[in-house]
Amino acid sequence: MLSVQNFRNVGCTPSYINRLSIENMYETNTWILNDSDFNHYIGPRNLLPWKFDFSSLMNLTGLSLNELLITTFYNEFDYEKGKFKHFNFSLYQDSLMNAHAKVCPRCLETVGIHHKLWDIRIFLVCPIHNCFLVSSCSSCGKPIKQYRKKFYYCKCNKDLRTLKVKNADESNSFVSRIIYYKFNSDTRNFKESNLNLLTKLDLKYILLIYHFFIRLYYRDKSRVGSISIPFEYEDREFTTLIMNITKRFENWPVNYSDFLELYINFKKCKPKYDRGSYINNFGYFFIDLYNKYNHPQMDFLRNEFENYIFKNWDSSLISNSRSFNKDIYSAYYLSLSHKSLTC
Ligand SMILES: [Zn+2]
Ligand SMILES: [Zn+2]
Repeated sequence: MLSVQNFRNVGCTPSYINRLSIENMYETNTWILNDSDFNHYIGPRNLLPWKFDFSSLMNLTGLSLNELLITTFYNEFDYEKGKFKHFNFSLYQDSLMNAHAKVCPRCLETVGIHHKLWDIRIFLVCPIHNCFLVSSCSSCGKPIKQYRKKFYYCKCNKDLRTLKVKNADESNSFVSRIIYYKFNSDTRNFKESNLNLLTKLDLKYILLIYHFFIRLYYRDKSRVGSISIPFEYEDREFTTLIMNITKRFENWPVNYSDFLELYINFKKCKPKYDRGSYINNFGYFFIDLYNKYNHPQMDFLRNEFENYIFKNWDSSLISNSRSFNKDIYSAYYLSLSHKSLTC
């Protein structure tokens, strides 16, 4: 059995294996990887406890499944059953990194662990050092791997602790800070806690809400239903999008209804045929809001959407029914602006 003295509960699973190798003075992590059934392509997104078999790693380390699951997101994401089952896919497969990693060189230097929050794709900034996480090696240009023969080094021998970092500003770091404080169940020092509604939600719903808007944006742009969520801070379009999503929850519900007002006129992806004014005006925002992101924790998005409609759309056209939830495809109403155009 391996020596596991330095078991730390905030590292991700791959980094835990890397550290085990160091601790047991193995030259590489290959032996542990092979003996615990980890393939090189297994990243945090694949470590679904109901799909991945941890028993070999349990045997090697003598740790219980619950102890090992601390290196995954099982405790934070749980496992959704029944009609919310699709969230599991979104939370694990979509929102976590694959066999490539993002790292904070300064944390590697000072703490010496790979924090598992780094594996959340939209977690772009280290809240401790206020710098962007780095996803590729400046020396060889290749992506940083989760499984590294030497924990602190890229394959090209570049010391990852010496990678240059770029400082982030407040608006760039909001999502990462809120994820970090939620993860540590400590929002006492979070200045914006009263100003942004997202700070009131549990971690997994914060992630799901960002996903909802990220997917919508890329779907409207590319007309492709399924997209993978980017993770690089150099991707300006993506970082701007993240900041815009964050703003929609400030000054609640004013900014959100401003977004809805603008969104009506955005070029968007929608079903080909006339499916009623909600879908004609709001496309997949409306469809996914009611069909996919349908958890009660996200009801506030629907409630404010309905408030917006009742405040801004012609009441004679919406008096027939207030029930959005029953049959969204049969809903047929006209907005005031839409009406003035068509009448
Ligand atoms: Zn750091
Ligand atoms: Zn390299």
